Amino acid sequence: MIVILKGDVTEAQIQHVLDRVAELGLRPHLSRGTYRTIVGLIGDEDKISQGALRSIPGVQDVLRVLPPYKLASLEAHPQPSVVQVGRVRIGGGQMALIAGPCAVEGPERMRSIARAVREAGANILRGGAFKPRTSPYAFQGLGEDGLKILREAGDEAGLPVVTEVLDPRHVELVARYADMLQLGARNMQNFVLLTEVGKTHKPVLLKRGMAATVNDLLMSAEYILSQGNSQVVLCERGVKGFDSITRNLFDVAAVAAVKTLSHLPIIVDPSHATGRPDLIPPCALAGLAAGADGVHVEVHDCPEQAASDGQQALLPAQFAELSEQLRRLGELFGRKFSSPTGD
Ligand code: PEP
Ligand code: MN
Repeated sequence: MIVILKGDVTEAQIQHVLDRVAELGLRPHLSRGTYRTIVGLIGDEDKISQGALRSIPGVQDVLRVLPPYKLASLEAHPQPSVVQVGRVRIGGGQMALIAGPCAVEGPERMRSIARAVREAGANILRGGAFKPRTSPYAFQGLGEDGLKILREAGDEAGLPVVTEVLDPRHVELVARYADMLQLGARNMQNFVLLTEVGKTHKPVLLKRGMAATVNDLLMSAEYILSQGNSQVVLCERGVKGFDSITRNLFDVAAVAAVKTLSHLPIIVDPSHATGRPDLIPPCALAGLAAGADGVHVEVHDCPEQAASDGQQALLPAQFAELSEQLRRLGELFGRKFSSPTGD
């Protein structure tokens, strides 16, 4: 950490900063320049509150040298991490293709969608049993019945399953049925929930909050990693924008940026990012070209009957076409979709 002092800082103020740093258990290193004096801090930066240092008279700014996400950073782990979900491997050249309905609606429908997405090339099945809805009157999901239905459909199709956990009290329940726990955009900074899923050894799909920076996303991943769970896959699903032409603003640059900062795999969700079936294929392909380790797409066999997000669902045939395009683009970059059977 570096403390930059103001141009008109007094000797007494400099001494106070040096004393305060030493009191906090770090070694200060004073450097006087022609125009600016700076103090380098040597030691464990995490003991220090940047805000508190900034409030000291004579201090202009306090800068971190190392990223605050130690475990998620590329420096901590220069090789890409590979996360395993069932037998599917995500990262390091292997990709996830996650597909399924927004919500689990019933056994028959879940089974037929599972079969269709598996045939089309998906390697992980999705479906929400606990749905985070804007309205308390909207369909909230089938709860534990939904988890059972998803599990059975996944087993029958030969696909591992991912589903969202909304509540720290449900982590154990959801972990009993799912191969991967999804933390949704609305809960990306639910630190109690992050800590709870961190205590499990289940892979986690951590979706970027709709107003979260890349730094916020990596700090949330850090919560999970710091609990001992290293199985984290990030997901770019769009952030709030000003243009209603799409549901959210698909931040494809965030994917490439994460690759420069972290070893964690990152996938894209063009369904929630765009909210438009016609924009899902181009954005999925763009995500993959930007370096994504996979794609997450909502698929429904009858969108007009969907309990949630029917407006953005791809039909199985559309998904099959996209899957083939993604496979071919992946080949160009030397990345392939991991087989659900581990072959
Ligand atoms: C979902 O995956 O169905 C979902 C609610 O996504 P998000 O948290 O990204 O809005
Ligand atoms: Mn959805």
